[in-house]
Amino acid sequence: SAPVLALDGPSGSGKGTIGQICASQFGWHYLDSGAIYRGLAWLAQDHNVSVDDVAGLVALADSMELTCHVQENDVAKIEINGQFVTAELRTEETGEIASQIAPLAPVRASLLAMQRRCRKAPGLVADGRDMGTVVFPDAEFKVFLTASAQIRAQRRFDQLKSKGFDVNLARLLESIQARDVRDSSRAESPLKPADNAYVLDTSDLSIDEVVASIMDYVNK
Ligand code: C5P
Repeated sequence: SAPVLALDGPSGSGKGTIGQICASQFGWHYLDSGAIYRGLAWLAQDHNVSVDDVAGLVALADSMELTCHVQENDVAKIEINGQFVTAELRTEETGEIASQIAPLAPVRASLLAMQRRCRKAPGLVADGRDMGTVVFPDAEFKVFLTASAQIRAQRRFDQLKSKGFDVNLARLLESIQARDVRDSSRAESPLKPADNAYVLDTSDLSIDEVVASIMDYVNK
């Protein structure tokens, strides 16, 4: 099957930006798996399905058709059931709900096939939390990006601000720290580097330096 570069790490570690650049440099497909969890969170809000209605969430997940349209020099556009929802998915509220439904094993199971179907020739860059550990354990390349919570909050702040969102840095930092705890302490697919992953701390690196470092690792 087609080669996969699994790119995992916490919120704000740079996975989205780096993943899209790598995908366009390789000429590979790009999977934003966070958008799948955010998309389900958005659908649940839209359909008034609560975060503890597991059967309702699974039904929504099974009926969800999500397409990720990668663009040059911009964030991928996300289409769910025929509707473009890119901006809606990026709000902190949607991220919060996503991280509340992400620990549910039946929800993760029903989203697994959808993610694996994205593995197509000539290759796939898959960005998320468990790409190298659960979704594509046989990935040819596994990268785990990290950065300090302070730096990740600042990056999210700059990113949201440039999109015109009204944001508060202290609150973003709090929400990133809370999400880190939830993502790494859950029983189901906790956030952690795959055994043989290339772990890279991006706190003091530019985007170009991170991309160059991943290129070195892939071409070795
Ligand atoms: O990366 P992003 O912030 O868009 O992800 C939103 C939430 O979705 C995360 O906080 C995490 O709980 C969940 N997620 C996940 N597994 C993935 C991708 C995202 O559990 N592969």
